[in-house]
Order: sequence, then structure tokens, then C-alpha cells
Amino acid sequence: MVAVAAVTTHKYRLEKVMDVLKRVPVSEQDPKERATNFKEVCLGYTLEEAKEEASRCIKCKNAKCITGCPVSIDIPGFIMQVEEGNLEEAAKVISKYSALPAVCGRVCPQETQCEERCIRGIKGEPVSIGKLERFVGDWAREHNIKPEAPKSTNGKKVAVIGAGPAGLTCAGDLAKLGYDVTIFEALHEPGGVLVYGIPEFRLPKETVVKSEIDNVLALGVKLETNVLIGKSVTIDELMEEEGFDAVFIGSGAGLPNFMGIPGENANGVFSANEYLTRSNLMKAFDSSYDTPIAAGTKVAVVGGGNVAMDAARTALRLGATVYIVYRRSEAELPARVEEVHHAKEEGIIFKLLTNPKEILVDDNGWVKGMTCVQMELGEPDASGRRRPIEKQGSEFELELDTVIMALGTSPNPVIASTTKGLETNKHKCVIADEETGKTSKEGVFAGGDVVSGAATVILAMGAGKAAAKGIDEYLQNK
Ligand SMILES: Cc1cc2nc3c(=O)[nH]c(=O)nc-3n(C[C@H](O)[C@H](O)[C@H](O)COP(=O)(O)OP(=O)(O)OC[C@H]3O[C@@H](n4cnc5c(N)ncnc54)[C@H](O)[C@@H]3O)c2cc1C
Ligand code: SF4
Repeated sequence: MVAVAAVTTHKYRLEKVMDVLKRVPVSEQDPKERATNFKEVCLGYTLEEAKEEASRCIKCKNAKCITGCPVSIDIPGFIMQVEEGNLEEAAKVISKYSALPAVCGRVCPQETQCEERCIRGIKGEPVSIGKLERFVGDWAREHNIKPEAPKSTNGKKVAVIGAGPAGLTCAGDLAKLGYDVTIFEALHEPGGVLVYGIPEFRLPKETVVKSEIDNVLALGVKLETNVLIGKSVTIDELMEEEGFDAVFIGSGAGLPNFMGIPGENANGVFSANEYLTRSNLMKAFDSSYDTPIAAGTKVAVVGGGNVAMDAARTALRLGATVYIVYRRSEAELPARVEEVHHAKEEGIIFKLLTNPKEILVDDNGWVKGMTCVQMELGEPDASGRRRPIEKQGSEFELELDTVIMALGTSPNPVIASTTKGLETNKHKCVIADEETGKTSKEGVFAGGDVVSGAATVILAMGAGKAAAKGIDEYLQNK
């Protein structure tokens, strides 16, 4: 039984007086309880709460929130339908712009996008746009509302590489326009980071992710899993031998970075990608699966982004004492504020202004600790953030059996190195036009993390949308 920390919600209901400057609070699983399970942390709004929150939106004529959304969802349009209780209409409004509302409602950084620009935020708290989007996405799934499939295809074939948010969005938009689309995915499951990276307690896989992917496939999109483009078949072969008229590359940025410090090759050192993939995709957290993970009992996660928080909170749930080791201060943590807050509530220990120098290894080649040094912040560097500088003589040791590196990722070079005429930049990202996704190679388009480097779900979706338009224009004029 999941304990619910709904104290504030009840208080809110009892008072029955609505303070329009404040959000309707959302129920969450109790921190102590949730630190021991993989069930979802946030429990979402009830219908009553969603309608109440929707009534805080003043449906601005010149809605600034829309300009903050990378796929320009008609936010006041769907919120108005929620307020009136027309949830099917609300779902239809969102589905014009996004195929993944229940996903985005959960993981998008709304606080720096739509909600940051919400007019309500000037004097009080912005409208909870993300939680309302999630509510509509969940309602549509629970009521089996599906997007309409196109009646016929135009006979033109497009290959989409990668079934992450960029590929799924591009494929869905092209299918709606009548194209014959096939997604080629290297893993055995579609979803990209949504299935192998972001943990179950933030984004349930079987219900939320699977059903939104199924909606894309229901548009007539074909899916071939276990196909590694660049090895199983190349882009040139797809176009020259298999009759594809255009290709979209949405292969993400799955290659992890490391620090290059001594001891990094020891047993017990993971990249966050590997640790999370083993837990999420291989279900290491579920004892009924026979693919366990060496979870660790004293774990340090190096880094301060969403990926670091996810790895830390996963290790905690697998039974470890967990440190986040980050070289700047709390103000510079790149993770979403909500994720940092949840991690702290659950008992993750933050070692801020701390940098690893060496991973200490025992006689059997396993991690036994990490030498760290304390840092202080100096003048701003090229990134505009204050540069961390080592404090002389401040070295100390952490006793550990596992270290997880969450230091960012870059695109895997397998596609670029096997595709004639495809240009990349010095970060190994494919060079593509922002407006159309067009690359240096005729008929090949790209978008998402493979172009931008590791970014966000909604930016990848925006790039997939732009490329679908670009591909349509290209093929219409060919
Ligand atoms: C742990 C973690 C937590 C995150 N948390 C958030 C968050 O809270 N909010 C947020 O907005 N963003 C978050 N992100 C970032 C976000 O998930 C990514 O920016 C987004 O998924 C990028 O989408 P994409 O489609 O470009 O790539 P991906 O999601 O990486 O999908 C690419 C797909 O292509 C496949 N592929 C790769 N190479 C090939 C090949 N050669 N042939 C065939 N298929 C191939 C991969 O297997 C994968 O399925 C997080 C990322 C991680 C790793
Ligand atoms: S800016 Fe805020 S109040 Fe205005 S339409 Fe958007 S969500 Fe509603």
C-alpha cells in the first residue's frame, strides 16, 4: 500500500478558499516509503484538483506560456477544456502538437519553459501547466483515446533511426502526412532514454511510456528493433538498396564521458547510462528478473544533473547509502529543482564543492574508496558560471564500493563513421539545420540529442517535428 503525503492537499480541500496566487498542491508518495520502492513519486491531480488549478489560468490573449513551449502547445486552449471538464477535447488540443503528453507532463523542465513565462508567476505561483498536461495525458490513456490514423499513404518511404522522443515525434508527424515510415531501433525496446534512462519512479514504463509509443505506432508507423544502423545496415544501403526516399537520424547521445582520473577502470565503476540501463531496461530492481546489478552499498555519483539524481535515487532504492559529489555549489546544480528536492527528501547526501581526484582500488581490483578535494568558486568562466578552484590541502577520502560517473554524454560515432558525406562537429554531433533538420547529405535529416548533444525530451521532440516538416517539403519538391 502506497502511503500518500497528502496533508497539504487535505488542508487545501478543507479550507475550500482558493488563493489564486498559489498552486493546487499535488499529492506525492511519502519520502521514507518511496525511498524503498520504485513506484511513482508524484501521484498527480484528481479531476477536482485539475479543474481548480485550471481555473487559475486567465487564458491570456497573448499567451506567453506558448512561446516558452518548444512545440508551441496551445496551453490556454487545453487548460480551458480542463476547467470545463471536456477532457477528450483537452486531449485533442494537445495531440495536435505532442504525441507524448503524459511523458512530457512528468519530465519536461516546465519551470524554465512554459511555466517560467506564465503571467500568474509575476505575483504568485505560475499555473501548474506540466501537472495539468500530465493529468490530460493520463486521462486520455485511461479512457483509451487514440489519435486518428491517416486513411491512405502517399507511397513515399522514410526511415527513422532511433525510437527516442525525436524519432517517435518525427515518425508520427510523417505518418499523419501519409508517409510510409519505418523506425529502426538498436535496442530491443522503443523509447530511447524514456525506457533505458529515466527511472520507473519518475516515469512508469509499462503504463505511461508504452501506451504513448503505441499511439505513435497506431498511426501506421512500422518498428524494427535490434537493428543497429551503421552495423546491421548503413544509411547508404537504406537509400540505395531498400528504396527509402529520405532518412531521419534521431539516434541520441548515448556515449558516456569519463573524468580520466586514476582508478576509473576498476570493478565497481559504472557510467550512469550503464547503471540506469541495467536497472530500467533489464529490470535489475525486480527480483523476478534474472539480470541483477552489482548495486553497491556505499555509492558515490559524480555529477549534478538529472542523470546524476536519477542514478543516485536508483542506487538508494537498491539499498545503498548514496553521495552526490559535485564540484560547484547548490546554485549551479544543473538538475531540475524538483529532482534535487526529492533526492534530499529521500536521504541522498550532497557533497557539494567537492571534486574526485582518484578512485582507490583494493587488491582484487574493486573500488574501495575515492580521494576527493574541496573546491571554492572563483571568477565566472566561459560558461558564465563561477569557476571551481581546488582548496589547497583539503583532500579527504570517502569509503565506497561503487562509483557512478554522470558527467554527460555524446553521440555514438557509429552512424557518422559509416555514412558518406555526413558532417559532424568537434563534439561528434551531426550538423543539421535547426529549422528543417537538413544535414550535409542529400535526403538525410537529423534532430534531437544527436545534433544538440544531451538536452531535453521536449527539445528532441521539437527537432523531430521540425525535421518532419523539412522532410515533407523536400519530398514534395523532389
Ligand atoms: C538518466 C536521464 C535522465 C533524464 N531526465 C530528463 C528529464 O527529466 N527531462 C528531460 O526533458 N530530459 C531528460 N533527459 C534527457 C532526455 O531524455 C534526452 O534529451 C532525450 O531522450 C533525447 O531524445 P532523442 O530522441 O534525441 O534520443 P534518445 O532518447 O537517446 O533516443 C535515441 C534512440 O536511438 C537509438 N539508437 C542509437 N544509435 C542507433 C543506431 N545506430 N541504430 C539504431 N538505433 C540507434 C537508441 O537506442 C535510442 O533508443 C534525461 C536523460 C537521461 C540519460
Ligand atoms: S501565461 Fe499562464 S495564465 Fe496566461 S494562458 Fe498561459 S498558463 Fe494561462
